[in-house]
Amino acid sequence: MKTALITGITGQDGSYLAEFLLGKGYEVHGIVRRASMFNRSRIEHLRADPEIYGKRLFLHYADLQDATPLRRILQKSAPDEIYHLAGQSHVGLSFDIPESTVHEVATATLSILEICRDLPKLPRFYHASSSEVFGSPDDSPQTERTPYRPENPYGCSKAFATQMVRVYRKAHGLFAVSGIAYNHESSRRGENFVTKKIVRSAAEIAKGGSQPLVLGNLDSERDWGFAPEYVEAMWLMLQHEVPQDLVLATGSPCSVRSFTKDAFAAAGIQVAFEGEGESEIGRNELTGETIVRVSPEFFRKIDTTRLVGDPQAALNAIGWRARTIGGDVARKMLLAEM
Ligand code: NAP
Repeated sequence: MKTALITGITGQDGSYLAEFLLGKGYEVHGIVRRASMFNRSRIEHLRADPEIYGKRLFLHYADLQDATPLRRILQKSAPDEIYHLAGQSHVGLSFDIPESTVHEVATATLSILEICRDLPKLPRFYHASSSEVFGSPDDSPQTERTPYRPENPYGCSKAFATQMVRVYRKAHGLFAVSGIAYNHESSRRGENFVTKKIVRSAAEIAKGGSQPLVLGNLDSERDWGFAPEYVEAMWLMLQHEVPQDLVLATGSPCSVRSFTKDAFAAAGIQVAFEGEGESEIGRNELTGETIVRVSPEFFRKIDTTRLVGDPQAALNAIGWRARTIGGDVARKMLLAEM
């Protein structure tokens, strides 16, 4: 039986990855942090299963900003594979809390790499990097060769961590890779992400709610995929013979406007957009009621409008491709929300 350690097991991706690895017969160790409210909702079903919890799934307390317990846990669990997913994951918020974002996303990744270096058995290491390393790139789609020009504290931190992973691979011979992942969503997405906000609002309005959905830039485009498919790519990257950073993307851009239309349509509501920029609104085609408004409050300080990844290298190297794309993601999320 292989042993895996997941940082961020309580997050969207960590919870799907834990299910995936348990399904493959792994012993799974997860790192959780202390909070004033017990926060395990995404893995509660695994914790409640007496065949799994305490037998093949083990949770350990540690915070990313605290290297000593991390070292202890890694030494004790002696994982074959580490999936490092933990960290502040919200781009917009990283402007408000840049220092803790840098500590959690950049410095903590370096600390874990340092710990790995000293372990008697070198684990394979996956780092959850992000398309935000590219900033506002000149080329579209972006590939593994696109230069890093991050434009927010989150992207800067991920860029540092991604480069460090490469350094440890080249200088210390660690099997360490970064998945440069584009946005991937699911019903387990955090409450303050735009896709979750859209589907939640569409479901509420479909059930008779009257509170309009307030969004930022409707022209912003993202490469939206489906999270459970991305955790499979993480695993495949660690099974590959050669350690290699890969872009994980659908290759299809989808605007916030289009995602919103698809989510509402899945809830049985057709939205007609009118106006431009900050004065654009979306009306319920049937009733004429305003159900979508735009507010400058939700515009990013610096927005990357052309982020779309080239999935070809991942297909060639590990045979992975995203199957659920853009509008299909919106429909899946909406159904789960309803
Ligand atoms: P998420 O839902 O926000 O989960 C983040 C996880 O990190 C949670 O388990 C959280 O614990 C944990 N965490 C945060 N700060 C921590 C700290 N100081 N100490 C210990 N644990 C901490 O994020 P996700 O969507 O699953 O994404 C996983 C990773 O992939 C993240 O690194 C993210 O930046 C990266 N990524 C995600 C996407 C995407 O579209 N989802 C795209 C590119 C890259 P709590 O549950 O206690 O908060």
